[in-house]
Amino acid sequence: MIETHGLAKHFNGTTAVDDLNLNVKPGEIFALLGPNGAGKTTTVRMLACLIAPTRGEANVAGYAVGRENDAIRAQIGILTESPGLYEKLSAAQNLDFFARLYGLASAERGERVKRYLDMLGLWARRDDAVAEFSKGMKQKLAIARALLHEPKLVFLDEPTSGLDPEAAKLVRDFIAELKSEGRTIFLCTHNLDEADRLADRIGVMKQKLIQVDTPANLRRKMYARRIVVRMRAVSDAQIGAVKALAFVKSVERADARLVIALEEPEAMTPAVVRALVQASGEILAVSEEEHSLEEIYLNLIGGTK
Ligand code: ATP
Repeated sequence: MIETHGLAKHFNGTTAVDDLNLNVKPGEIFALLGPNGAGKTTTVRMLACLIAPTRGEANVAGYAVGRENDAIRAQIGILTESPGLYEKLSAAQNLDFFARLYGLASAERGERVKRYLDMLGLWARRDDAVAEFSKGMKQKLAIARALLHEPKLVFLDEPTSGLDPEAAKLVRDFIAELKSEGRTIFLCTHNLDEADRLADRIGVMKQKLIQVDTPANLRRKMYARRIVVRMRAVSDAQIGAVKALAFVKSVERADARLVIALEEPEAMTPAVVRALVQASGEILAVSEEEHSLEEIYLNLIGGTK
């Protein structure tokens, strides 16, 4: 759905985006994650044909950025950092107004406006002025506005920024619903938790793309996988029995817990448990140690300084 080769943007000597090579698949939620000033918004603006790249090539929804911008604009929807709704108009009037701008015929407009207000749970509030809406409701309405012409690719730049947790959840649920309709979603965020919850794949960016993978694979790549075995008590003999297993990479003891690094916990955990039981160990629980995406992200971003 999106493919870029060596995409770059310079602003009077500032390199906002450098040598970006992206590949976003149809139907996925792809999150571009990076700190402030990493070049996320600039990337979206280039892909949505709002600004011209300084260098490189991009293909969006099957068309070339720069040569086929009108065709791209017809295939995409975009939510920018400010929602830009008319506060005095009602929810229905806002959507109808933007549907007219998209050139939709009257019958089609009515049908789309109803469909999105229904989907947002705002049909009953359709005649209320947007000024009376909560931030979360406004943001959902702004996303709906970007969808009125039924684009197959939707760019969402910081869709939950400035929202409280409840409103952010409303918006995230809506985004998940859009994916279930088969749309491709390109999300920009510096919110790790959001990328982790929503995205099929995450691209970590700081001018360049540092890593791209699923949230789970990012975790796995960055750290050895470790299991935590909680015991009634730990003896040296038990530690020795685990260390004697050829595939065990390391064993650490913390009170009555053993933290054991393994290449493949799924395959190797039973043998570890067997060795401990044979050495008279009483096991209370076994779990895999989780690394937060935050640790991984800080590690990746920190590595580029
Ligand atoms: P944020 O999370 O803060 O929105 P971002 O990752 O979206 O950040 P960009 O807005 O793309 O980052 O900005 C990347 C760099 O490009 C920054 O150094 C910014 O100052 C610069 N920049 C962006 N737009 C312009 C512009 N129109 N003119 C000059 N410099 C710009």
